[in-house]
This record gives sequence, C-alpha cells and structure tokens, in this order.
Amino acid sequence: MRYISTRGGMPPKHFSEILLSGLSPDGGLAIPEDYPQITAVELAAWRDLSYQSLAFEILSRFIDDIPADDLRTIIARTYTPEIFASHEITPLKTLEPGLHILGLSNGPTLAFKDIAMQLLGNLFEYTLEKTGDELNILGATSGDTGSSAEYAMRGKHGIRVFMLSPLGKMSRFQTAQMFSLQDKNIFNIAVRGVFDDCQDMVKAVSNDHEFKHAHRIGTVNSINWARIVAQIVYYFKGYFAATQSNNEQVSFAVPSGNFGNICAGHVARMMGLPIKHLILATNENDVLDEFFRTGVYRPRTTKETKHTSSPSMDISKASNFERFIFDLTGRDAARVAQLWQAVDQGNPFDLSTTSLFEKIRCYGFISGTSNHAARIATIRETYQKYNLLIDTHTADGLKVGLAHREAGVPLICMETAQATKFAESIVEAIGHEPERPAGLENLEELPQRFVVKDVDTQAIKTYIDEQCKST
Ligand SMILES: *Cc1c(COP(=O)(O)O)cnc(C)c1O
Repeated sequence: MRYISTRGGMPPKHFSEILLSGLSPDGGLAIPEDYPQITAVELAAWRDLSYQSLAFEILSRFIDDIPADDLRTIIARTYTPEIFASHEITPLKTLEPGLHILGLSNGPTLAFKDIAMQLLGNLFEYTLEKTGDELNILGATSGDTGSSAEYAMRGKHGIRVFMLSPLGKMSRFQTAQMFSLQDKNIFNIAVRGVFDDCQDMVKAVSNDHEFKHAHRIGTVNSINWARIVAQIVYYFKGYFAATQSNNEQVSFAVPSGNFGNICAGHVARMMGLPIKHLILATNENDVLDEFFRTGVYRPRTTKETKHTSSPSMDISKASNFERFIFDLTGRDAARVAQLWQAVDQGNPFDLSTTSLFEKIRCYGFISGTSNHAARIATIRETYQKYNLLIDTHTADGLKVGLAHREAGVPLICMETAQATKFAESIVEAIGHEPERPAGLENLEELPQRFVVKDVDTQAIKTYIDEQCKST
C-alpha cells in the first residue's frame, strides 16, 4: 500500500513516511493509491471479531511497513477497557428497533477524537523510538482537539506537546481537562488573545522553516491520514453490532465539521461495507450541507463563521473534504489541484452544472443542517423518550439522521461527545446538570499547570526553545 497526493505532486510513499504529516509538499492530502477491497468471505469472518482484532485486520490493510506483531502490540496497548471504559470500545446503544447510537466518546477526554488520537500517540512513539528522533507537537485549540492530543501524548518518550489556547475563553471543564495534566512533556500555553491569534501564531512558527526543522515541529491536525484509518474501524464495528447478517444495509448519521469522521465512513463504504447512506449533519455553519444540496463549495470567512452550542463543528472550510472530491472526480488530481487553487484563494467552486454533481448520489451522501433550537429539542426529546442524555453535537447528528430515516434500514447515529462537556446546553434542555462520569467530579478543583503568554510569536518560539533545552 502506497500513498499519493490528491493534487498529484508526490511520488508514492509508505505509511510511515506520511504518518507525521498527511499534508503533501504540493499542498494536497495523502491518500491510498487505491482502497483495499474486502471480500464477502472476509466480511463474514470479521463479524464476530473483538474490536482489537478487527482493528488489526483493517489497519494492516493500510499499514504495511510496521511488522504485524508490532502493529498488534500497538493496537492492544491503545484499545483497552481501562482507556475506553468497556470491552466493546465503541458500544452500540439501541433506542428502538432500527435506531441506534454508536458510543464513540468513552475515551479519556469524552470525545470521539480520542479513538484516533490514542492510536496516533502510540504510533508516533513507536516510529520515533526506531529513528531516535524527537517530535514537538505544536497546536492551537479551542476545545476538543487540544485535550485529546494532550491525553494521547502525555508521558510519551521523545514527544512534547505545546498547546496554545485563548486565555479564559474555553469552558471551565475543558480548561481544567487540559491544564490539570501534570506530565512534564505537556506544555499548556494560555494566550492573551482569541483562538485565531493562537492559530495564526502556530502558522507563523510553522512557516519559519529553519525553526521548524531545528525544533522538529509537527502537528496532529485532522488531515492526518492515520486518524482517518483509525476511524474506519468503528464503522465496521457499528455495522456488525446493528445487523444480523452481511446482506443488510445500514445508514450512518455523522455530526460533521472538518469531514474527518465521515471521510472514514466514505472509505469504509469504498472498501465494500454495505452502507446505504452517509448522512452528513452540520450545525449553523453549513458549508458542507450547502455543497451536498447545491454542488457549490463556498468556504466561509472567519467573520462568517458562527460560534454555536456545538462548537466542535464550527468550521469555515472542511479540511478533509478534498479527499472526497478526489474520489468524486474519478481521482483526477489535476482537476482537484485546479479546484483547490480557487479554494486556497478564498473562492468557491461550483460542480452543479457538471456531471460530477449527479455522481455524488453514487457515493451514498445525503446531508442536512441543525441549529440551536433543534439540538436543544432533540436533547430533551431523546431524554424523555429513551432516558438517554446526548450532547449537542450528537443531537445535531440525530436530528438530521431522523429526518432522513428510511423504513427497513437501520440508522446508526454517531455519538461524538458526552453530555457532561456541554452542561450549559443540557441545563437549557432538561433543567438540570448532567451527571459527571466517575473520577471527574472534582476536575475543576485540581491544581493547574500552564503559562500565560502575549500574542507574540517570538515569545512562543523562545519558550519552545527553552523547554527543548531543559527537558
Ligand atoms: C471534532 C468533532 C466533530 C466533527 O468531526 P469532524 O471529523 O471534524 O467532521 C463533531 N463532534 C465532536 C464532539 C467533535 O469533537
């Protein structure tokens, strides 16, 4: 299995060569030369596998430059009941016959990103140990991604994490989740500014190629291909849990932002998993819903991007979307490069008058959008009807999923975070606070470890340099 760029400008590479970045030198994204095809015999044999064995079968189709025994060990260390709270790792809850919630948020930070990030931490550590290299992960966060990365990288050899966040702008819970980590390799940098200031400084540091190279700066953002691969596993797991036989089709409803989660569903379908529809749900930031409805992809400006009560879906453009368009164009890299030339300049592209728009249907995608009132109502109704408390993102997915539900086709809604992370909206929906999972009751009371910095790229570089020399 080799990887190429969606824009055609990268010689084929092995998995380990794309592991640390995912971004190709031509600005495109790494993608497999072709998708592994799962035969009916294999699919039948996979039905009763444990999460770990299933993960090995799938990951080994994409990762052929890590010895099988090592890959098995990495998977066994990652997907444990201690880290993910159950043997199933992603348990399926049935609300009523034909309607299910797939629990993806039982990891350390209570969001689905842990499933991929925990694997990434172990893959990074493994490859760095082999080369004797170091890696300094630099990121900006307004919530889920930063904490998920920190919990995945804490205590790992050869890795430091420098995470910028806007001082006082995250929820108390999210702040405490990150800042209470006492690990020596985790550096929380609270910036006197807003999230965009943090992101701009990360870009500025990354654009200083000399500094970046000398300090081995890397990222863990959502375009990382290993994250997509890790997420393919639970589409298979969810399918098997919701069906009796491999003759059945299911549909998945996916709360979407950067198109990472649903991109994994797309790949699972391309591999031969019997998925009827991939139902993409957005919140008020509906750039993806607009595309699937109209064929026009129009990235939003920062100003147009709304702050919503499902904040992890507040995006202006969807970084993984290019991978789907690559497939939609019949893997025409020149066409993709041309389309993203417009996107990179902040311009839209329009496929509505081309034959590609018709073709979208062949890939199973349908879409819809949700908003604050709809997600509050969905949380309330789900609580009253099924005695199940869901979070705001999951509510967006369930709301859009139910609107597209078909008789005879099981609907699996992805649970992407736990309600306790978004207590304010829960109170609005049901009139009281959600229960805290065991062990997190006093999270905000724990001692916090962080430094405060101004919006000053040089100060950030100096800080990174000092920590690299002294720890
Ligand atoms: C990141 C995130 C999403 C969006 O997932 P994408 O892969 O970016 O589409 C949805 N819900 C939650 C809770 C998230 O953290």
